This record gives sequence, structure tokens and C-alpha cells, in this order.
Amino acid sequence: MTRTLVIIGHGMTGHRLADTVRTLDTAGDWHLIVLGEERDPAYDRVHLSAYLRGRGRAELSLVGREFLRDRRVDLYPGQPAVHVDRTARTVLTAAGEEIGYDALALATGSRSFVPPVPGRELRNCFVQRTLDDVDALRAAVHRGRPAVVVGGGLLGLEAAHGLLLLGMRPSIVESAHHLMPAQLDADAARVLQHGAADLGLGLHCGTTVASVDAGPAGAVRSVTLADGTVLDADLVIFAAGIRPRDDLAVSPSLERGERGGFLVDAFCRTADEHVWAVGECAAVLGRCHGLIAPGYRMAESVARQLTGHPAEPFDGTDTSTTLKLLGVHVATFGSAPVRDGEAIDVAFSEGMTRYAKVFLQPGSGILLGGILAGETGSRTALAPHVGRRPPAGLEQLLLP
Ligand SMILES: Cc1cc2nc3c(=O)[nH]c(=O)nc-3n(C[C@H](O)[C@H](O)[C@H](O)COP(=O)(O)OP(=O)(O)OC[C@H]3O[C@@H](n4cnc5c(N)ncnc54)[C@H](O)[C@@H]3O)c2cc1C
Repeated sequence: MTRTLVIIGHGMTGHRLADTVRTLDTAGDWHLIVLGEERDPAYDRVHLSAYLRGRGRAELSLVGREFLRDRRVDLYPGQPAVHVDRTARTVLTAAGEEIGYDALALATGSRSFVPPVPGRELRNCFVQRTLDDVDALRAAVHRGRPAVVVGGGLLGLEAAHGLLLLGMRPSIVESAHHLMPAQLDADAARVLQHGAADLGLGLHCGTTVASVDAGPAGAVRSVTLADGTVLDADLVIFAAGIRPRDDLAVSPSLERGERGGFLVDAFCRTADEHVWAVGECAAVLGRCHGLIAPGYRMAESVARQLTGHPAEPFDGTDTSTTLKLLGVHVATFGSAPVRDGEAIDVAFSEGMTRYAKVFLQPGSGILLGGILAGETGSRTALAPHVGRRPPAGLEQLLLP
């Protein structure tokens, strides 16, 4: 008999889950119902800044014709779920429809965190999470005018880069003492900051936004920093982190991770055998992951379990990232030490243009991971050496 899988959230991982189940379910065991809050079916959120620069809405879509035509799938864009009754195994939509399920996957993603600073509700204050957010932002962009991006992590850099390419004059405000504090150490960040400053990006690290200040028409005019600096700004983008969207009403309630997110085990299972969580809303063994690669791994694992294929437990230790921002290549591979004394680090650098650091296990000297910034070797060349003693020509691999 056909069973029903309801997926709440048609974002990147919700779609990957639906698509993988479709592919693996050769016997046609599953009927899929996908509820999306946004009016657009799943799209490539990672490339939202390309949309800001003028790429078409349809070009970002992840949903092919085959998916839309598949009779096993019912897709409801613009139909958020508002309540889950785990006892009756039903989901209630905002339109008042009640849908029964055999399996339920929560894929509700994250929301942008906006710090509670005075003035954050002014006209021309934005976040950059959805296509609609970018539409609103694009309407406020004016060449040659100043802007402020709050947050110097991945998302803040992406936002500032987008504004630079549109001819604005953005500054970044980052509370840590250097850019990308979650991924880079101070020396690697220096290479990135050197490239950023060369492009004319204003950098204010080690300080926070005290207030966003209004001009005469009620729109943003400037931003005042905790150190007293006042930055002119026609618009402000908050890119100060994300929070998992775990506020869906579920009864009886599901356990959340310490820092939010639906708590799941390494197979993305909640304590309810009928309910899974994938992507940024999932706290896997207590930890949420804000990148797409782990989200896709979770979605594929759940699809395999539902269709009776063997699945590997999710291993979240590899937090590798690679990006080219502001003309500077930065990458991390393997894992970085979480606590002091967990690794010995060895750094190689050349002026302000390239820097590499590797983490080695004390005693065995096994390569755990590393950081690359500037014209360094590629992460792909180094990743296969993780978990082994590094090769003799390591320096040549790092700084070829
Ligand atoms: C600007 C930007 C740049 C990024 N760049 C990178 C990058 O370079 N590399 C990288 O690895 N990652 C990047 N990311 C992160 C990446 O996009 C996310 O990791 C990925 O989108 C997470 O997928 P998800 O399915 O968990 O969440 P989402 O893609 O956010 O999807 C969740 C969906 O669920 C919907 N939803 C929420 N509640 C409900 C409900 N009650 N009912 C129905 N639907 C609901 C939401 O509206 C949303 O459409 C970037 C993100 C942004 C915003």
C-alpha cells in the first residue's frame, strides 16, 4: 500500500529529499506531499547574490519539469504548515487543510538573525534570505551611495560583494577582531582583508552597531558604531547569523537542541519514529549546520532510510568550505580543533597574498585539516591526505 511522506519546507534540502526519494523509490511505495511557505518552488539560495546582480528568478529554480509532472508528488508552494499533531499523524496547513502522514520530514531551514539594535525596523534595513528579500533590497540600491553590512562572516561578505558589484560603497561591521571568525584565524583573515580593502570595502572589526539612524523621510541615513564612529548609509543589510526555524507548533512537542533546532540523531531521526528533520532546522546530535553540503547529506540519508537503502550516519566533523570572495580564494578542509591542545598547528605564509595552516594530531602527526587563503594549493588536492600523515612535499602542496 502507498504510504504518504509529508515534507514541510520546499527549500534546498526539502527538495533534495523529495527528489532523492523519487529516484530511489522504484517500486512507487511513496506518495509525496511537499508544503512550501514561499511562493517559489525550491531554488538555489546559495546563489541569491547572482539574482541580486540580475540573474532571472527562473534560472535559480531547482525544480525540473519531470518533478512537477511526477504524479507521485503533490507540491503546494505558498502553503505553510501551521501545526503538526503527532498523535493523529496529521499536518494542518495555513489554508485549513489537514493532511495525514506515515512519515514526516521537517525541512524548515533558518531565519536571518537581526540583532536588537535601535532603528533596525527603519525603511531600507534588509536581510538576504529569500528571493523576495532580494527584490526589496534591489529596489533600494543606488550606484555610488554608501551602505553598511552588519556581520563579516560568509553571508556578510557575500552581501557586501554583491553591493560592490552593483556600484555601491559598502562597509562591513564585524564584532570579532577579524572577518570570517568562524572559519579563519587572524592571519588567514588578514589576506582576505587585504583583498577586500583593495576593492574599496570599508572594514570595521572589533566593534558593533549601536544604532541605525533615520534621515528626514524615515529611511536609514547612517549607522552609529559602539566605538562612536558614524557611517553614512543609504541601506543596511543584517547578515549577523542565522537561527534554526524550529518554532512550528508540534504537539506533543519535539525536543530542541541547546541552541535550537529539532533534535535528531546521526540518522536525522527525532524521538518520534515517524518524524525526521533535515537541513538547517535539524540539530544533529545537538548541532545545527549552516551550509548546504551537510544539508544535502542529511536529505540523502533520510531518503535512503525511507526507501529501504542502507544509510551512513551523518558525520558533521568535516566542515570544509571553499569560496572566492572579493577576488580572494579562501578554503578550509577537514576539521579544525575545537579545544586548545587538540592539535599542533603549522603555518606557512608569503606576505599579504597567501597563507596556509594545517592542524596535526599531537603524537601521531596525522593531518586533521587546515585553512587556505590567497593563491594557495587547492582544497581538493589536500583533502585526500586528511586522516593520514602528511606527504613529504606538504609545503609545496600548500603554497605551490
Ligand atoms: C545569501 C546566502 C548565501 C549562501 N551561500 C552559501 C554558500 O556559499 N555555501 C553554502 O554551503 N551555503 C550557503 N548558504 C546556506 C544555504 O543556502 C543553506 O544551507 C540551505 O539553503 C539550507 O537548506 P534548508 O532546506 O535547510 O533551508 P532553506 O533553503 O532555507 O529552506 C527552508 C524552506 O522552508 C520554508 N518553511 C519554513 N517554515 C515552513 C512551514 N511552516 N511550512 C512550509 N514551509 C516552511 C522556508 O520558507 C524555506 O523556503 C547561503 C545562504 C544564503 C541566504
